Amino acid sequence: MRKKLLNIHSHREWAWVFMILFFVLGIVNVYFGLLGFICMFTPMIQAIKGNGKLHCSHHCPRGSLFMKFLPRISLNRPLPPFMRMRWFKSILLTLMITMLTIAMIHSGGDPKKIGFALLRFMTVSFSVGLLLGILFKPQAWCQICPMEHGTHLISKVKMKGECTRA
Ligand code: SF4
Repeated sequence: MRKKLLNIHSHREWAWVFMILFFVLGIVNVYFGLLGFICMFTPMIQAIKGNGKLHCSHHCPRGSLFMKFLPRISLNRPLPPFMRMRWFKSILLTLMITMLTIAMIHSGGDPKKIGFALLRFMTVSFSVGLLLGILFKPQAWCQICPMEHGTHLISKVKMKGECTRA
């Protein structure tokens, strides 16, 4: 798999542009918030396809933005150890899934409300990531990111399945 990943061109140098574009378009028209689904599902689809954390290492606009701009202003301190524990990441992932599910139910299937909910969710998680990146290491968010944790869990299940079949 490693060889396969190395052959895929990385967009991390400039993918941050999509993050800015997402927020600008979302302010102009809340329907663009629906694009947040791409951000959520792409890492999972990659993991299901067996590409592990390809999204993180090659494509993620959020990770790209933190990597590009935060080193200049970050205090560059390590995250508190408890935040790097698996239980903490699992709580965050559960919280994210619960909040999104509640937001989807409240939207009643209205695309405008779904777009707004996604935009709000992305703004909150981005702000938390920004704050963590300033207070700790620039990519501190990536150490607790629910998407990364979800991707990791999917890859683990997939690998287990492949080992059982072998
Ligand atoms: S850990 Fe999260 S924010 Fe960081 S690169 Fe991966 S998906 Fe993006």
